[in-house]
Parts: sequence; C-alpha cells; structure tokens
Amino acid sequence: MRGLMQETPLLISSLIEYSATYHGDTEIVSRTIEGPIHRTNYREVNRRSKRLANALTTLGVQFGDRVATLAWNSYRHLELYYAVSGLGLVLHTINPRLFPEQIDYIVNHAEDRYIFVDLTFVPLLEGLKDKLKSVKGFVVMTDEAHMPKTSLPNVQCYETLLGAQSDQLTWPVFDENTASSLCYTSGTTGNPKGVLYSHRSTVLHSFGVCMADTFGINSGDSILVIVPLFHANAWGIPYGAAMCGAKLVFPGMAMDGKSVFELLRDEGVTVTAGVPTVWLMLFQYLDQHKDAKLSKLARVVIGGSAAPRAMIQRFHDQFGARTMHAWGMTEMSPIGTIGNLLPKHLDRPFDEQLEVQVKQGRGVYGVDLKITDDEGRELPRDGKAFGNLLVRGPWITSGYFRNDGGQILDPDNWFDTGDVATLDPDGYMQITDRSKDVIKSGGEWISSIDLENEAVGHPAVQEAAVIGVPHPKWQERPLLVVVKKKGGEVSRADLLAYLAPRIAKWWLPDDVVFVDELPHTATGKLLKTKLRERFRDYKLPSASDAAE
Ligand code: AMP
Repeated sequence: MRGLMQETPLLISSLIEYSATYHGDTEIVSRTIEGPIHRTNYREVNRRSKRLANALTTLGVQFGDRVATLAWNSYRHLELYYAVSGLGLVLHTINPRLFPEQIDYIVNHAEDRYIFVDLTFVPLLEGLKDKLKSVKGFVVMTDEAHMPKTSLPNVQCYETLLGAQSDQLTWPVFDENTASSLCYTSGTTGNPKGVLYSHRSTVLHSFGVCMADTFGINSGDSILVIVPLFHANAWGIPYGAAMCGAKLVFPGMAMDGKSVFELLRDEGVTVTAGVPTVWLMLFQYLDQHKDAKLSKLARVVIGGSAAPRAMIQRFHDQFGARTMHAWGMTEMSPIGTIGNLLPKHLDRPFDEQLEVQVKQGRGVYGVDLKITDDEGRELPRDGKAFGNLLVRGPWITSGYFRNDGGQILDPDNWFDTGDVATLDPDGYMQITDRSKDVIKSGGEWISSIDLENEAVGHPAVQEAAVIGVPHPKWQERPLLVVVKKKGGEVSRADLLAYLAPRIAKWWLPDDVVFVDELPHTATGKLLKTKLRERFRDYKLPSASDAAE
C-alpha cells in the first residue's frame, strides 16, 4: 500500500524561498574581491537570484546545461548557487587551484556553456580561452566600474546583466532527482572525475548539516564559511544555512590570519568551517597578537584532512571553542562523520575528551559505514581493527559523470572511499590512512596520519608528512618530512625523542628530513605521490644497517 502523503519534490529553490520568507533580514556578509565588506540578506539573495535566473534564460541556456563558476566565497557566488540550480541547470564549481590543463579538461568534459568568473581569475581564463570549446560566453562577477580590459570573447558584466532583468520569477518545479551541481575531485592521479549532485541529495544533505548532533547550525548562528564554495559545495553549508536561516559570512579571497580573525570578531561568528591549513595561518597571526579575543566563537568544524590534537586543544584553550572534527569526500556531498561528544564524555577531563575529538567523528543519519579487509570481510567495530572504509546512502555518489571509472559500487551499493579507518563501539570512526599511503612494514600497517598528528604536536613543527620509503628488510619504513615553524629549532634527534613515548616502538620513523615546504593538492591536502617521487631513492640509515 502506498502512503498518502504529498510527494513534493525536494528542490534547492525551496531552501532560498524558505530563508527569504522566514529569515529575510538575516545577513549575508562578504569581503569582496574589489575590497570593501558587502552586506545583503536572504530576501535580497532570493531576489537577485531570480534576476540572474531570468538573465540566464535570455542567454539561451537550456534545462540541464552546465554553467560554471571560477570564484571565491561571496554573495554573488551564492546567488549563482540558487539561480543556476533553481532553474534546473547544473552549477559546475571549478576549483581554481587545479592546474590550468586540468581546468581546460574539466570545462570541456562538463561542456560548460557559460563561465562566471571573479576578477582574480580573468587572466587564468584568458590563457585558456581558445581551448574551451563549449563555452559561449563569460560573465565577470563585478560591476561596470571594476570591469577589466580583457581579451575574453563575448564577455559581460555581472551587475549589468542582473540590472537589465526583473526579479519576478516562480521557481520551476521538476523531478527532485534532476542534477543540480557538479564538482570534480582533485585526484592525485589521472584526470579529475565529476561528482554530479542532485536536488534530492542536496536537500537531504542539508537536513544532515542542520541536525543538532551534526553541525547543529540554526538561526542563532553566524557562520564564517572558509571552506570554498568550489570544494564539495562548501561542505553543504550554503544550503544548510538557508534551511535554518543562519547568517553567512564569506571571506572572499583573503585567507590570511588577520583577515580571517577580523571577520570572526566583527561578524560575531559562532561557527566556522575549514581545513587545518587555514587555522594554522590564523594561529600564526594570533601568536603575534596575544590579546586577540573572540567572545562568540563556539564551534569550529575542521575537515578535509585530520585535525591535529594541538589545534583542537588551542581552539579550546584560547577561545573555549569546541572542535567538530568532520570527515567526508566530494563523492559524499561531503558529510560522512562528525565528531561531537556523547553525554558520557561531558564530565570527563578535557584530556580525555581530546582522545575522542581527534577521531573523525560518528556516523550521521543518512550514511552507512563499515570497514572491511582486502577480501571484503567486515571487520569488528572495536576501535583497533583497521580496514577499508565503505559507505552508502542517499547523498553518496552512484557513479562519476559520463561513467568515468565505470561501475564504482559493489553489488550492495557500497562505495569504497579509499580511506583506511577504525570504528569503535561508540561509532566513532578514525582515519588511519589513505589506502595508498599506509606504510606496510614487515606485513604490518603503520598509519602515516597518526605519526603526522603526533609530529605536529611538537612546538617547533609547522607541518609534517610521513611516507613509506623502500627498505631491504621491512619492505617499507616511515620517513618523517618536516617543515619547521618560523624561528622554531628542532633536530632529528629531538623529534625522534619526542615521538618515542607517544607511539608504538616499531612505528618510530627511521629518519627525519627538514624541508622548506610540502607539496599540496588543489584542495590543500598533502600530495604524497609527489613526496614519494622525491624521496624514491632516499637511503634510510637503517637500510644500510640491515644490508650489512
Ligand atoms: P575531498 O574529496 O577532496 O574532500 O577529499 C576527501 C578525502 O579527504 C577523504 O577521502 C580523506 O582521505 C580526506 N579527509 C577528509 N576529511 C578528513 C579528516 N577529517 N581526517 C583525515 N582525512 C580526511
């Protein structure tokens, strides 16, 4: 028997309509590319999204066409989120940190019709314009006063385009499984692959973002969105915030510690979200401004790579802010797990709570998780066994755009994340590695991430990476590669002595190398393939001992 409830499609336009109606005055604040702070609100964003949607129609784009952005976090980018998807077009958010040849590859692969571009990235597109076969025109996201001289063909000004349009529009209604946005993974090998979100997956994921035991965002929050709108839809926050009417604060292109701190302070930010690197830059600024205070900051979402213990501790000690350690992937919209404490942890000393918080968090409603061995056998949830982490659920991809990579799910719809993890009896998941990065030493696995987390706990260490280096006796042994903090002094022997009591004896790196910087991917993750290449012929001191 079929239920008798309304089958209203879950559409992204319903999010902005809701916030415009019930939270119309709630602010959207942006640090603009042009310079000044800009203020608008949900009512205006809805109106201007409608103008933009009308403009897109006059540009001749058709239902299902891809419209791309190459832009920082700002109100204009947010308007594109709602206008493009609201019309039934697909918003392709291009990551500007990809290599230029990857950008031209994905624009052609997506067959983007128009590209909306921030001033900063106009030169990048000028260099690529002759290769972008499907693109009919470009729109520079600025006003007439700031329009650059450019060699881009068929180029228009965003504000002029909007100015010519009415804000009268009823968002069209269509199947909730229609594609809404497209984001390419920045894989470390091969071409980027497209993850194609739907309206249904996005709206369901927005509920996931708002749940009290996840990010728990609500109309009382002011959220500084550091995570880029071009990276997995900024972890779904722009949609979730509209669903609950939270204030949004966008940093534009200024990610330096001072600019981020000023927004946190001046906009009464209660929640912020970003990858660890950004917080390191904030801490560097705070080190030089010891009297800096943030009275409202309550929660910091850290994901994308592991949140170091020292970082969680510092947010707690300096601001009384709680870290929500989160894990996910572009392929997962991206939320998979979120770290909040359970009632039984609340009375424990902070040190013990930290043990829980360094894990990547508990599964959220909507995401099934399991770990398996290489034969596909499920491993126990005992917090010790580690294996391949598999996921499934309504906001997880079923296949890449244009079937790149072919069939990616197993017969029961499980998607292999490529991460290696433990699951404990309380449901907390801890990433121990990427399956490609785990160090296989004498038949046992060593977690490079655990070692990195411990190493960055040393006060003189800015960033650390651990890779496996070939070893005649053990197959592979860990090599620790370290960037020192400015002015920080630490030797190989100091670091090994620091690590020794903190890790299993046989996990101790065989050597330490100091470098000026570490290679990163377009989304800020350590690029270990590059490091492995660089140290491929590295001779560990222990290797010659073993050879003797
Ligand atoms: P992306 O699709 O670029 O967001 O990358 C997803 C990958 O980032 C995951 O598969 C993990 O390897 C890694 N990742 C994301 N969040 C975390 C985290 N909190 N700790 C460790 N690794 C993470």
